[in-house]
Amino acid sequence: MTPSAPPWLNRLNPQQRAAVTWGMPRGDGRVQAAPLLVIAGAGTGKTATLAHRVAWLVEQGVDPARILLITFSRRAAQEMARRAGQALAQSLDTGGVCPPAQGALQLPWAGTFHAVAARLLRLHASALGLDSGFSVLDRSDAADLLDLIRHEQGWSATRSRFPRKDTCLAIASFALNTGRPLREVLAHGWPWCLDWHDALRKLFSAYAERKQTHRVLDFDDLLLAWEAALSDPQIAAQMAARFDHILVDEYQDTNTLQAGILRALSPQGEGLMAVGDDAQSIYAFRGACIDHILSFGEQFDPPAQRITLQRNYRSVQPVLDCANALMAGSTQAYPKSLQAARGPGARPVLATVADERAQADRVIGGVLAQRETGVPLKEQAVLFRNAQHSEWLEVELTRRKIPFVKHGGLRFMDAAHVKDVLAVLRWMQQPRDALAGFRVLQCLPGMGPALAERALAVCAAHERLSAGLSQCASPPAAVAHWEALIALTRDIGPREARWRGQFDAVCDWYQPLLERRYRDGAAVRAADLQVLAAMAGHFGSREQFLTELALDPPSASGDLAGAPYRDEDYLILSTVHSAKGQEWDAVWVLNVTDGNFPNEYATGAAHSIEEERRLLYVAMTRARNTLELIEPRAFAVTHQPRLGDRHVTGARSRFLNAAVLATLEGVPSQGALNDVDPCSTPPAVPGGAAAAVADSGAAQSATEHRQSAVPRVDVAARLRSRW
Ligand code: ATP
Ligand code: MG
Repeated sequence: MTPSAPPWLNRLNPQQRAAVTWGMPRGDGRVQAAPLLVIAGAGTGKTATLAHRVAWLVEQGVDPARILLITFSRRAAQEMARRAGQALAQSLDTGGVCPPAQGALQLPWAGTFHAVAARLLRLHASALGLDSGFSVLDRSDAADLLDLIRHEQGWSATRSRFPRKDTCLAIASFALNTGRPLREVLAHGWPWCLDWHDALRKLFSAYAERKQTHRVLDFDDLLLAWEAALSDPQIAAQMAARFDHILVDEYQDTNTLQAGILRALSPQGEGLMAVGDDAQSIYAFRGACIDHILSFGEQFDPPAQRITLQRNYRSVQPVLDCANALMAGSTQAYPKSLQAARGPGARPVLATVADERAQADRVIGGVLAQRETGVPLKEQAVLFRNAQHSEWLEVELTRRKIPFVKHGGLRFMDAAHVKDVLAVLRWMQQPRDALAGFRVLQCLPGMGPALAERALAVCAAHERLSAGLSQCASPPAAVAHWEALIALTRDIGPREARWRGQFDAVCDWYQPLLERRYRDGAAVRAADLQVLAAMAGHFGSREQFLTELALDPPSASGDLAGAPYRDEDYLILSTVHSAKGQEWDAVWVLNVTDGNFPNEYATGAAHSIEEERRLLYVAMTRARNTLELIEPRAFAVTHQPRLGDRHVTGARSRFLNAAVLATLEGVPSQGALNDVDPCSTPPAVPGGAAAAVADSGAAQSATEHRQSAVPRVDVAARLRSRW
């Protein structure tokens, strides 16, 4: 512990205080700090420590704009800023010296790796040979573009099974994020695709080319381009010089690219602090590697110091007993046993129910009972392995008019009308983004793919979109819409056009098309667009709005709503992946059976099973007071119509061994539960686990570094050459 720890940090334990006040204040608004790793179990206050660290640094005079704070999601970044703001306010109350802090602290460089990458790449675009107005392709658009090329290359017509678009994207992404050769990646993760090695390489190479023609970057490109930029000593020095402190939460889910980026930003580890929990590493399927956190210290000379936190402040002891028993069964070592600062409480429950319908009933009964005892819906969460697992529950909640918000599921942004409107804005922002143009043009009556392609070719020959469109012939049925589109493009097309009012202008243009295309649900869809319009108003520019939405798409329209809606009470439904770092008074975990925990796709390899164990551990350790694991005896067969009624019998999860069962209440005797046949395919990308977040700072001018006309690093060539 540093002797100078101020009184406002008294609430923290000595190890937390030591991490918060790590380093030597120099008295000139700077704090000199060697690299530090805080490694500790769930709920031990790692994130709280980072938030206090931010507050303490600011109190020492560090400029918040010189703190790079990497979080797991936009929500997490906002939460961190709020916590840091609160801590600073406490510091003021206790006589600390700090700038005025009302509410959340402004942290312009708080966000995910991807969001920070997008922002830095725009700032350094000219030195990198990039168009600073590049668009960010979200995962679903990336898969669509890949699919288009796959089709062009004739793979959709092959008789033997060519990998589907999402599989192709997952393979490419895994190879890029781990830096491993394609053949090796296929052999380990997708062995049945090995025969397609050459075809896949050709596909990925064409995909890389096409993205450049469209001036778009996908999520992987953002990291690759950032890494490439940092390979130039001058640019690396400029980027590194922006930050005095780099704080990283959830470090256990860092992949090779991200770890390399951090090393390049701070080669000696000066100012670098990483916090994480090896037992919560759940992103191996995206290339995250637990070794990075385990070997964090050794990359520096002298090795980085390490602080461990012992006490769990979140959960009652019986919940932790269950989580501890689960991890004790691991074949990998996690020598931690969580001890509750809060003491005893209710034992977690294992509820065996007939099927998913009964599961939904049980959860709703439990949720309402909790609410009767004063636990708001918002303090309760239902967690599941796959986004589809909550379907029955959603139907029942809707029927019983119980409000809920779902995270990590089918996204609001995937709705066709939302995509249409965003495509208009994307096309205006980046006229080379042919995928967006293709979508916009086909909204028009009488405009099919062939005509749209022809129009795009004409537009490509013109500097301004409006000029290109004026040269195209409109289909007879679309004349009025066409004229209106040209006018719209003229008004809001130019990048310098005022952002305010643009969203409404696009909606005005789109409204008649919406009514034409969606006769039945037009009113509901129009309401969605109003919600999105309200959100658009919170962003300073079109570019910022589009980038943030692509990086961290809202999963429900409720996610986008303003304060009044947010004040209402609603139950949280979330995939476990999206629940990272969060906590609730009461937690239900759905479908705790073999085939789901662990997922049937993960049962092929020991390391995948361990990742599934950690996933269940993450789910369990979200609970403060009550935890219920639900085990349906039968559940619906997948690959049948939504909510179809074919069922298979669920076997007890292999993670619920005798030691774990001994910590649970209500355990029935093991009945005639049949085994679910394991299958040895690699993990699929879990439904929509939020991947990224946008930074919250005001948009900075992208004109910095314009002066270097000749790119110092040809990022585009690097991205192409990878395949
Ligand atoms: P996870 O591993 O899930 O990310 P974490 O280690 O980041 O968890 P936090 O979310 O920071 O843990 O903290 C868990 C809970 O404990 C929060 O409610 C936090 O406010 C509380 N907490 C943290 N430190 C202390 C402390 N010293 N005294 C009391 N409560 C604390
Ligand atoms: Mg945390």
